[in-house]
Amino acid sequence: MSLPCSIDIAIIGAGAAGLGAAHALKNSDLSFIVLEARDRVGGRGTTVRASPDVIFDVGCGWLHSADRNSFVKIAGQLNFEVDKTLPPWRERAYGKAFPQDERDDFIRALEAFYTRAEVAAQTGHDSPADRYLEPGNRWNPMIDAISTYVNGCELDQVSILDLGAYQDTNINWRVRRGYGALMTAYGASLPLALNCEVALIDHSGQRLRIETSLGTLSAGKAVITVPTSLIAREVIRFHPALPTKVEAAALLPLGLADKVMLALDDPGDLPSDGNLRGATMRTEMGTYHLRPFGQPCIEGFFGGRFAQALEDEGNGAIAAHSIDEIAGFLGNDFRRKLRPLMESRWAHDPFARGSYSHALPGHADKRAVLAAPVDNRLFFAGEATSPNFFSTAHGARDSGERAAKEVLASDAKR
Ligand SMILES: Cc1cc2nc3c(=O)[nH]c(=O)nc-3n(C[C@H](O)[C@H](O)[C@H](O)COP(=O)(O)OP(=O)(O)OC[C@H]3O[C@@H](n4cnc5c(N)ncnc54)[C@H](O)[C@@H]3O)c2cc1C
Repeated sequence: MSLPCSIDIAIIGAGAAGLGAAHALKNSDLSFIVLEARDRVGGRGTTVRASPDVIFDVGCGWLHSADRNSFVKIAGQLNFEVDKTLPPWRERAYGKAFPQDERDDFIRALEAFYTRAEVAAQTGHDSPADRYLEPGNRWNPMIDAISTYVNGCELDQVSILDLGAYQDTNINWRVRRGYGALMTAYGASLPLALNCEVALIDHSGQRLRIETSLGTLSAGKAVITVPTSLIAREVIRFHPALPTKVEAAALLPLGLADKVMLALDDPGDLPSDGNLRGATMRTEMGTYHLRPFGQPCIEGFFGGRFAQALEDEGNGAIAAHSIDEIAGFLGNDFRRKLRPLMESRWAHDPFARGSYSHALPGHADKRAVLAAPVDNRLFFAGEATSPNFFSTAHGARDSGERAAKEVLASDAKR
C-alpha cells in the first residue's frame, strides 16, 4: 500500500504489538495504517524455510504461558496447528554430557534461586538479581546462562522486581508452521506500508507530522511500537523531544538472544524434541534443541554477553561454535553430520538492535513510564510496555490492543 497524505491513526511498527493495535482498531470508524520499516510484517517474529525440510523460527518460537496467550486463540481462528509437546529444557536430557543426577541437582539449585528471587521481589525493594545466587554454589554460572536465555542478559543486569513481575504459567506450546508465519497471516488483512521507515514524529502542531522514507504523513494520533533500543538511541526522533521516554527506553534495554539452525544428516538415535546441553559450569554455553518437530536439524540458542561476542566475530561464528560444542558432547565424528543453515544476529539487525527487554536494577517502574500516553496523541506499545508478559510476543500483541483501546477512549472524549 502507498502512503496516504493524511490518516486518523498511524501505527509505527508491524510486529506483534503493531498488528495487535491495528486489529483492535479494525471495527472503529477511524482510518489507520501500519508503517513498517522492513519489507515484511512480524518484526522479531519471523519464520523461514532454512532448507526444504526445515522450518525455522528465527525470532520467537514458543507460545509462552500458553494458557493465557492470546496468540493461541488467533492460531485457532487462522487454522494454525498448535503443538502442545512439552519443551525439552528441563526434565529430559540426551547423552552423557549432562548426566541425569547432575541435571536434577542443577534444577534443584535453579528452583532454589527462583524461590529466593521471588521472596526478594515480594519485599518491594529493588536490587540486581545476581544477589540471590547462593554464594559458592557450583551451578551459579549455569543459572546465569539460563538468565541469558530468559532475559537476554546476565543476572547482574536484571531488576529483581522486574523478574518478580513476569508471569510464567510454565505452559509452553508451539505453532507447527511457525510463530512468525502465524504473525504474517495475522497481518494479512491489515492496511500496511512496508519499506516505510519512520524518522521523525513532529507533535508540535495541531496534527502530527510523520517523516518517513516514503514521504510525509499527517496523522491525528500515533501508536509507537518500535523496540526500546531504537527509542533510546533516538533512531526514531520526536519533536519536541521526549526525554522521559528516551530515558525509560534506555533503562529497559534489549538483551540479546540468538539462534542457529544446523542441518543434521542421519539423526541415528537422536530423539525428536530432545535437549542437549553440557554440565559445562560456564555461563558461555549454548543449549540445543534436537530435531524440533522431528525435523532433520538441531537448533542452538545463545544469550547475553556470549551471544554478543559471537555476533561480533561475524556471520558464521555461532554455527562454528555450536558445531564445536556439539562435537565436544557427542564425539568428534558427529561433526560430519552437521551443516550450518542459518543463524540470527539480532544485535546487528538495524530494526531490532537486540532481542527482548529487561529492566535494569532499580528501574522496574520504567515499563509503566514507557507505556504512558503523551498528550492523548502519542500512544506507546511493544513488549517492553507489558506489565507482566514483557519480552514475549503475546505480551507485545496485548500491549498493542491496550494502546488501541487508549486511542479509542481518548477519541471518545473529544
Ligand atoms: C531469538 C529470539 C527468540 C525469542 N523467543 C521468544 C519466544 O519463544 N516466545 C515469545 O513469546 N517471544 C520470544 N521472543 C521475543 C518476541 O519475539 C518479541 O518480544 C516480540 O516479537 C516483540 O514484538 P514487538 O511488536 O514489541 O516488537 P517488534 O517485533 O520488534 O516490532 C517492531 C516493529 O517496528 C519496526 N520498526 C523499527 N524501527 C522502525 C522505524 N523507524 N519505522 C518503522 N518501523 C520500524 C520493526 O521492523 C518491527 O517490525 C524472542 C525474540 C528473539 C529475538
